[in-house]
Amino acid sequence: MADFDFDLFVIGGGSGGVRAGRMAAQRGARVALAEVAEMGGTCVNLGCIPKKLYSYAAHFAESFEESHGFGWVGEAPTLNWDTLKFNRAREISRLNGIYGQLLKSAGVHIINGWATLVDAHTVEVGGQHYSAKNILIATGGKPSTPDVPGCEHVISSNDIFDLSPFPQRLLVVGGGYIACEFASIFNGLGASVTQLYRGHQVLRGFDDEVRGFIAGEMVKSGVKLHLNTDVAAIERTDAGLQVRLLDGSHITVDAVLYATGRVPLVAGLGLEAAGVRQGKAGAIEVNEQYQTSVPSIYALGDVTARVQLTPVALAEAMVVVDALFGPPEGKQPRGMSYDFIPTAVFTHPNIGTVGYSQADAIEKFGKVTVYRSDFKALKHTLSGSTERTLMKLIVEDATDRVVGLHMVGADAGEIVQGFAVAMKAGATKAIFDATLGIHPTMAEEFVTMREPVKR
Ligand code: FAD
Ligand code: NDP
Repeated sequence: MADFDFDLFVIGGGSGGVRAGRMAAQRGARVALAEVAEMGGTCVNLGCIPKKLYSYAAHFAESFEESHGFGWVGEAPTLNWDTLKFNRAREISRLNGIYGQLLKSAGVHIINGWATLVDAHTVEVGGQHYSAKNILIATGGKPSTPDVPGCEHVISSNDIFDLSPFPQRLLVVGGGYIACEFASIFNGLGASVTQLYRGHQVLRGFDDEVRGFIAGEMVKSGVKLHLNTDVAAIERTDAGLQVRLLDGSHITVDAVLYATGRVPLVAGLGLEAAGVRQGKAGAIEVNEQYQTSVPSIYALGDVTARVQLTPVALAEAMVVVDALFGPPEGKQPRGMSYDFIPTAVFTHPNIGTVGYSQADAIEKFGKVTVYRSDFKALKHTLSGSTERTLMKLIVEDATDRVVGLHMVGADAGEIVQGFAVAMKAGATKAIFDATLGIHPTMAEEFVTMREPVKR
């Protein structure tokens, strides 16, 4: 080991890189980490955290409205967009500092700058060469935007957080996580939002009923959702950005947000020089221990284009650290399972889901029984809101195991996290039935659904 400058050189200080670097250093490894931007990566700077802060901001609009039914009187306050942006930026800077500090106190050597692979054991940053026994690529991804006429006028999620001025009229293109979340958020913040999706329903891959339900709720809350269409061309005019759709109609807006997926950030990394094999869209190919085609080089997180979620990158990092430096004392090396990954879409209301959609469950398990509840939450008996909540359980008939659990409703992400533990442990419907509810909550519905949906 002494022949190398470091035992591990991590490229990228995002969710996966920071976790791997810090944990490896805590096991006694000599670790360097190169980061070209602010510490914390996409999640901290341009993803989960600022997005969730803006989602909280957006929820106040409905809270002010709903408060009247509970006896509150008076005008609703108005949003100061600059204050929100300033407070978000201040919090993100604080988090950047914490991430840097965590790495430093674990003994990680931080290098600021763009890192390039030179060969299987060498990385270059700012003209300086560093040798390492192993290299970990955790460079994440970047937004991918199709090449439509006028695409130079569009923005991505990277630009939305600091947009100035506030977009009174926003067009969101896409039907995935980011498109649905930002359509909800900017609708809540007061923009007139139109969402355009090329397919027949948003959130492809989610349970079909969940997709239809959230689309209905978003439309009820004010999002103008156009399905089965796409942008033909975008032009800047005095009235704003004029967007022509495939059906020939026009819409004029202040900003066009493209949320049409993300691709691995691999350009300029020197992967070819080092001989690292890549797959579709440049994604780095890895085995179960995240080792690439070059045995000393590992890769994880969004750059491998598997499941693009922060907790997934964190878990993958622990597998790499265990593989390279051994598991914690008395423990087995960790592996990674991609089954039953819980996830939330922070739409208004949220989606929380874990396990299989109804269609996927039928395909995988054959016979399943479905339990479903669609109701008005207690809060909305007084709030005046017409928002409804959907809860759904999919049970495999052969084993009675709950293999899918889905919710559209307030705080669905918070609620589903706990149920994900039960499902990971293999909980059956009989165990759900034997569990007492917490009354009065929405979550209790998951343990009180008795009548299956007719097949
Ligand atoms: P990243 O966090 O992207 O980190 C990669 C880092 O590498 C970056 O800091 C980059 O600057 C650096 N880098 C790249 N190339 C180099 C180089 N050559 N040299 C030096 N540094 C380099 N996930 C969730 O679980 N929940 C959410 O709510 C959620 N919301 C999201 C919202 C948005 C708008 C977006 C875009 C993503 C969201 N995600 C969410 C996804 C999540 O952010 C990513 O899955 C996660 O950040 C991936 O971690 P990573 O370590 O692979 O890469
Ligand atoms: P997604 O893959 O979720 O969605 C991309 C959307 O864009 C899909 O609706 C897709 O349609 C559409 N699309 C793709 N290409 C085109 C095109 N050329 N023209 C028109 N539409 C197109 O990506 P996002 O960008 O929303 O997010 C990236 C990832 O980040 C997510 O998959 C998720 O893993 C992660 N993320 C997680 C969040 C969370 O945990 N809450 C929040 C935000 C992001 P189609 O379905 O027809 O292909």
